[in-house]
Amino acid sequence: MSVKYIVGTNPKTGESLVGEFPISGKEEVNTIMKDAWKAWQEYRDFSGKKKGQFLRTIAEEIEQAEGLVERVMEESGLPEGRVRGERGRTCNQLRLFASLVEEGSWVEATIDKAQQDRQPIPKADIRKMLYPTGPVVVFTASNFPLAFSTAGGDTASALASGNPVVVKAHESHPGTNDIVSKAILRAAEKIGMPEGVFATVYGQGYETGQQLVLHPLTKAVAFTGSLRGGKALYDLAGKRAEPIPVFAEMGSVNPIFILPNKLKANSDGLATQMAQSVNLGVGQFCTNPGILVVLDNEDIPGFTSSLKEAFSQISPSCMLNAGIFDNFEKKKKHILDQEGVQSEYEFNGNGSAPNGRPAVGSVLADQFLKNGDLQEEVFGPFTLLVKCKNQEELLKVARQFEGQLTATIMGQDDEVLAHKELFNILREKVGRLIFNGVPTGVEVCHSMQHGGPFPATTDGRFTSVGTAAIKRFARPLAYQNCPDALLPDELKEANPLGISRVVDGKLEA
Ligand code: NAP
Repeated sequence: MSVKYIVGTNPKTGESLVGEFPISGKEEVNTIMKDAWKAWQEYRDFSGKKKGQFLRTIAEEIEQAEGLVERVMEESGLPEGRVRGERGRTCNQLRLFASLVEEGSWVEATIDKAQQDRQPIPKADIRKMLYPTGPVVVFTASNFPLAFSTAGGDTASALASGNPVVVKAHESHPGTNDIVSKAILRAAEKIGMPEGVFATVYGQGYETGQQLVLHPLTKAVAFTGSLRGGKALYDLAGKRAEPIPVFAEMGSVNPIFILPNKLKANSDGLATQMAQSVNLGVGQFCTNPGILVVLDNEDIPGFTSSLKEAFSQISPSCMLNAGIFDNFEKKKKHILDQEGVQSEYEFNGNGSAPNGRPAVGSVLADQFLKNGDLQEEVFGPFTLLVKCKNQEELLKVARQFEGQLTATIMGQDDEVLAHKELFNILREKVGRLIFNGVPTGVEVCHSMQHGGPFPATTDGRFTSVGTAAIKRFARPLAYQNCPDALLPDELKEANPLGISRVVDGKLEA
């Protein structure tokens, strides 16, 4: 039987990198899922302290993993500073989830005590908390080879909630995946985790990923990537005999509304700020501001010139892989070719593949409102300036947006307050509404919401960044009149973990 492998590719040179990563066949995927299921029988009952120790050890192993930074750079074309920063973010994220589960109150323990003498019927003792769903399959992102990848937020939150994880490696960085997977497995061994608590598979084409989604022992899926990919996996999961949740984060155009007084007061500064945000990481962020909405007045020609000037300071840089580069150039051209769209700036120097050439387009709002293609994400250093003739048109543009991860209002204090309707429209559309800032840069914290109404994600009630991401992989489970000895520690009468609980409707911290 011939063994098939995938190899990593250096996007800068197109050369294959060392290392061959075997593609998992059907039988192997089946065994991996059975092992994950078996591991879950034990792992789901591990204490928060033990799971925390596991997550902290993963972070240590990643920090000590030899050759990791170099391999990420080779496979992604990302510069060293960014890769080191991303590794730090990944490890901090693991430690943040460790703190969350060590503290323990995240399970939302809620207790209603029995009232035997209640009339006309007695009240039962009911105790509820969040319970892990079962093995989670994680599809990793090309644009964050560490922080949204093998040991990224999805894996960290799934492990934290008590679920084994099976990672479908991204074709773009198999060597990175291999180094990080081995770090996780070393940590699992050190801490005495059950075999099967973590595994990774490599695939070619979509077969392996689809088998994982369809496998009856898979209980949830996390995905970061394209709308096409995320929606396809979501639809596939819906066709299973037992449908399961697919938490797909699929990106957006993250519109920024720049109000006129703000623009007048600091046109050059805003143009520079916009250009920096659009071009950060060669525009390969799901929070990249792909659309800027302005009121078309006498200040707009100056702002447009400043934007062009700021863009012209930026040289094309290597994109993550040949597919993303091709997609970027194709989609950018598609938008610039649309009726009424003017190309304001496009780098036309020596910007050969795979260096994404930054560009700016502009369009009048009435044209934008007629053409749905213009609000499609162009994944790369591109933004479209939408010029509205009046306030009414600006609100129409806001109303027309599909679900987004973010929207931003840039305005002077008084004009922001005067735009209550814009505020109200945007609240319906987004997971995060930003004022006088840029959407790029997503803080990993307790209050972060990185998610939004479809098509930004498949379930806008959840976030994929921050500690609340853990809730995607847990479901409420209530115990009625359950003997104290059988209850999880979180719900025992004596509260041995000392966690915050709601008892008879009152928070006991
Ligand atoms: P992608 O094409 O959606 O792939 C993400 C992962 O899902 C990969 O592992 C891919 O497998 C798998 N996959 C995709 N479609 C599938 C299907 N129908 N069945 C089974 N598996 C499937 O995303 P990408 O490669 O990271 O980038 C492509 C485009 O996605 C970009 O150009 C950009 O538009 C968008 N993107 C968005 C974000 C975001 O933050 N939301 C991040 C990155 C990219 P393979 O590895 O085998 O291809």
